[in-house]
Amino acid sequence: MFRLDGKVALVTGGSRGIGRACCEALAEHGATVIVNYVKGEAAAREVCDAITAAGGKAEIAGFDVADSKAAEAAIDELAKKHGRLDILVANAGIAIDGLLLRMKDEDVSRLFDVNVRGALACARAATRPMMKARTGRIIFLSSVVGEMGNVGQTAYAATKAAIVGAAKSIAREFASRNVTVNAVAPGFIDTDMTHGMTDAMKEQLVKVIPLGRTGSAKEVAAACVYLASDEAAYVTGQVLRVNGGMYV
Ligand code: NAD
Repeated sequence: MFRLDGKVALVTGGSRGIGRACCEALAEHGATVIVNYVKGEAAAREVCDAITAAGGKAEIAGFDVADSKAAEAAIDELAKKHGRLDILVANAGIAIDGLLLRMKDEDVSRLFDVNVRGALACARAATRPMMKARTGRIIFLSSVVGEMGNVGQTAYAATKAAIVGAAKSIAREFASRNVTVNAVAPGFIDTDMTHGMTDAMKEQLVKVIPLGRTGSAKEVAAACVYLASDEAAYVTGQVLRVNGGMYV
């Protein structure tokens, strides 16, 4: 089950955290994985090396998703080179936290540039080869805070809610081409993005997670593998929550 042999997958922001776990899990299930990075070329190479050492196939591709023209051109090239692009995991994202009253306009713009405009540019480019092939999988990374909100994360939460609206709309637009589009909404996952939190903040947060612990990047990656698989062919326009019951 969930085999992805012969498929080509692109994971944006694949050099660490949830992105890295997705790269490794997709490769483990047979996909050839393209590990996108923006600054961490060495880290992206390390992901590739780990995948090849485990018997999988991977390569790296450096581009900034927020530079939509460059991102689209890079994805067009990759699809041409491989003759296909079956799976996009639009994972690249940033968090800039702050209370609304202190939030700078440029931070709001930057969040939307990367988390929304960037993800949509990648999706737009990915749909071209998928439409031609009449099959494809697009998986966006949303967040529990996009659905339930969070103090100090107004703009970030807004970008993650926007992604859900986008996923549902793109799912409707491309259903006739057999391209499925879903969002995975992780809860509190232990990665570099959450390492800035103090132990006291983490303790408070874990108290509101019914499963009583934070999640791992691997647990999010498993949801992405499922949505990328043939077994999920009838699932589109959905939000798959991986949050330990934090929001039900
Ligand atoms: P992370 O900070 O460890 O990784 C984010 C990755 O995105 C990094 O590799 C980074 O280089 C890349 N990236 C950032 N800007 C980019 C750009 N302009 N172009 C290309 N790549 C870029 O974070 P993570 O925790 O692994 O988060 C991955 C995704 O999951 C994000 O979209 C995040 O919003 C979402 N998410 C994370 C959590 C969590 O608790 N960690 C919870 C919910 C949602």
